[in-house]
Amino acid sequence: MSKPEARRIHRDQHGINPEYIDRHARSVIETLLDAGYDAYLVGGCVRDLILRKKPKDFDVATNALPEQIAPLFRRSRIIGKRFRLVHVRFGREVIEVATFRAGADLVDDLETTDAGRIISDNVYGEEYEDAFRRDFTINALFYDIRDDAVLDYVGGFADLQSRKLHVIGDPEKRFREDAVRMLRAIRFSAKLDLTLETDLVNTIKRLSYLLEDQSRARLFDEVIKLLQGGAAVKTMSLMCEFGFVEMLFPPLDQQRLCETLNDCSSLLCRALKNTDKRIRQGKSVTPAFMFAALLWEPVRQRYEELLARRVPPITAMDKAAMEVLERQAARVIVPKRFSVPMRDIWTMQLRLPRRGGRRAFSLLSHRRFRAAYDFLLLRCEVGEEDPALAQWWTRFQEVDETEAVAMVRALQPGKTGGSSRRRRRRKPKTRQANKPA
Ligand code: ATP
Ligand code: MG
Repeated sequence: MSKPEARRIHRDQHGINPEYIDRHARSVIETLLDAGYDAYLVGGCVRDLILRKKPKDFDVATNALPEQIAPLFRRSRIIGKRFRLVHVRFGREVIEVATFRAGADLVDDLETTDAGRIISDNVYGEEYEDAFRRDFTINALFYDIRDDAVLDYVGGFADLQSRKLHVIGDPEKRFREDAVRMLRAIRFSAKLDLTLETDLVNTIKRLSYLLEDQSRARLFDEVIKLLQGGAAVKTMSLMCEFGFVEMLFPPLDQQRLCETLNDCSSLLCRALKNTDKRIRQGKSVTPAFMFAALLWEPVRQRYEELLARRVPPITAMDKAAMEVLERQAARVIVPKRFSVPMRDIWTMQLRLPRRGGRRAFSLLSHRRFRAAYDFLLLRCEVGEEDPALAQWWTRFQEVDETEAVAMVRALQPGKTGGSSRRRRRRKPKTRQANKPA
């Protein structure tokens, strides 16, 4: 490939306000330039600045090698096995500095599997090669801080203006190299409101099976990004359209879930909507809560089946959770640090209705109370649980100690409200009281 020329888009055309460029990223680039290297802002941050969105992070690309970059900065570290890059730290912020690299199209000796999947891409390249090895045109723009120009080798600027998502190179080949790019297409399309052309949609549908043998841990990271991109409902609708729901989440009933997205009648859709709202408000969202909502329907159904077979409630919930998580792990593995709190959130749904004695107080101080309570609110919204229960808990959190005690007493007229474990144990268990549905 002969070296192509980049289109230089000047400030009056792209309109990026240089003040929005992170000062640490700028100082990293200045240091590299002073040392005689080329260096640019690249990828998502340039795209987001053009769209007048706040970039999540600022990445730098340069022709300096990791060994040349690292000594220029006091707090830097070379990381990565698959592709080595440098992290430069400023307090809590990290600027990622990557050496230009070449992509599969351009380098003959790149290792690929029989199916065309890249297994090693630690091949340094030229600036233009680094643009072409990226996934989508909108992600391949460079920003030159020396004259505030955007450098465009691939037509990404025009695509951003017309809000189109285009793969760089041949889509089929690029998806075969790395199937996760198909999920990235969905993510950017939903998050940035970009159109996918019919051909691209068809290619993705046809190749969706390639996701089946992706790393289950990498898919988890990608799913989190999909759900936390601020457009989770739209993302889920696209996943439905592409048939990715059952592929990524085997315990889910794709058809049923997808139907509920129209009127947002399912707990999952409500949870995704809340997630989007929280992200818009700059609040945090926890993957455990999102995944608890995602897998709740199959857990609840299995729990009901086990109850019907006279399995005791807590055991039934444990078993249902275990089975569903196991089926889920076939495709996208939920790490323990999330699956443990997920199970707590689910089990707490059985405990929240049982508020007698000291129980309500001890539940309130449970570390997962807040998440479990939020989850209960969702269940009430979709008619799975009596709204009076959610109202009780809402009020219980607001009132002072005396009133809280009174609230517990009022639950059991005639009883003291003290610990009545023995009495309660003798009571015949009513299954209804423990049913989440
Ligand atoms: P976000 O704002 O969501 O982080 P991003 O575009 O910055 O979006 P990253 O995953 O942070 O996405 O990746 C940074 C850049 O690296 C991308 O903009 C793209 O140019 C390139 N890139 C990332 N993943 C791939 C991939 N699988 N194939 C090719 N290029 C990729
Ligand atoms: Mg990024």
